[in-house]
Amino acid sequence: MNFSSKLLENAVNEFASLPGIGQKTALRLVLHLLNQPQADVEKFSHTLLQLRNEIRFCETCHNISDQKVCEICSAVKRDKSLICIVEDTRDVMAIENTGQYHGVYHVLGGLISPMDGVGPSDLNIESLINRIDNSGANEVILALSATMEGDTTIFYLYKKLKDKNIQISAIARGIAFGGELEYVDEITLGRSIATRIPYENTLAR
Ligand SMILES: [Zn+2]
Repeated sequence: MNFSSKLLENAVNEFASLPGIGQKTALRLVLHLLNQPQADVEKFSHTLLQLRNEIRFCETCHNISDQKVCEICSAVKRDKSLICIVEDTRDVMAIENTGQYHGVYHVLGGLISPMDGVGPSDLNIESLINRIDNSGANEVILALSATMEGDTTIFYLYKKLKDKNIQISAIARGIAFGGELEYVDEITLGRSIATRIPYENTLAR
């Protein structure tokens, strides 16, 4: 792409560095912003900066939060004995949208992926073990994507948790292999949590 302005080129390159945004789309977005009132563009940039600078992660579950402890963890009516283990905030949002889950979460912050150099120590696993040892949790639900990385992570967690005095459940995998939680419709996702089964039953004999 030949740009008539270095400033334009820089802005397009920034947008094009985002996932799923090609140069053409980036150019369209930048030209759109250029047509907006200056105050609107300032508000846009300020919102992004504020997000980056002020965002926190819940001390307990590692979900994205505005406070030290997120709203879900601090809600009295949530069942703290039931912990749903998910990959990231998108999964928390997807499960919350079902309106059918009343336990709490633990956000791993990724999945074990040797190909991408992501090992257990890169994820929020130690804090999960501590949490289980020190809280009254009596069941964890492994709600990870039905992908190779999801299965590897589930099996790792199972080995870590199997000798603890808790029920380890897996969500029903009506979800196709390679399926990611966030793309599953709410009814299916809600049902797969409600009909969860002991993880051991899913292991091949
Ligand atoms: Zn939390």
